[in-house]
Amino acid sequence: MKEKVAVLEDEKDILDLISLHLEKAGFTVSKFSTADDFFKSFSRESFSLLILDLILPDMDGIDVCRQVKNNPGSSSMPVIMVTAKTELSDKVVGLEMGADDYVTKPFSPRELVARARSVLRRYSRQGGDEKIYIGNEISIDTGKRQVLVEGRIAELTFAEYGILFILASKKGWVFSREKIIDTLWDGEKAVIERTVDVHVKNLRTKLGNGKKYIKNVRGIGYKIEE
Ligand code: CA
Repeated sequence: MKEKVAVLEDEKDILDLISLHLEKAGFTVSKFSTADDFFKSFSRESFSLLILDLILPDMDGIDVCRQVKNNPGSSSMPVIMVTAKTELSDKVVGLEMGADDYVTKPFSPRELVARARSVLRRYSRQGGDEKIYIGNEISIDTGKRQVLVEGRIAELTFAEYGILFILASKKGWVFSREKIIDTLWDGEKAVIERTVDVHVKNLRTKLGNGKKYIKNVRGIGYKIEE
């Protein structure tokens, strides 16, 4: 399976150049020129890697990185920051914010591809030993963000994976809808509690025989009970 890389860069020439070289190197590329576009898509699909420009029209690249990394559902997606030489101090901040690597403009596309490969190799090695099991049916590979249900890959969205991960990280604990929203969407006002119910409903459907482990605690929220 091809690795899916998201490239978020508002300068079209650079966006096209990076994408072209990643595609040539065998990656599938999704291009975004605003943070808003990226997060909209990211709520529906997952990526193996994000290549992130520091200066974007609608949001600071560092804030994008922070949002990705602070979120248990997406914190395991590596981020490579792209910065201009004059933004050196921001680069340092970017790494503190959890970016996994950076390249400075102007960079050679080959260098970027090499960095992308190296970061992904690092992550796939880490992924092997972080597994959470729920009953006999479900296993979560947190490094790969991959969920297997009775041995088959469940295609979960960002929100569905995030909710499952949150509940599975403390089995038996009850998480309120508010807590889930806070963790996944950073307390974003637009996300209402009903949204969590919709994601849980879809998640249960995708978990097949494993859906019995996700319990609704009336008036409070959700938990996993084996
Ligand atoms: Ca830019």
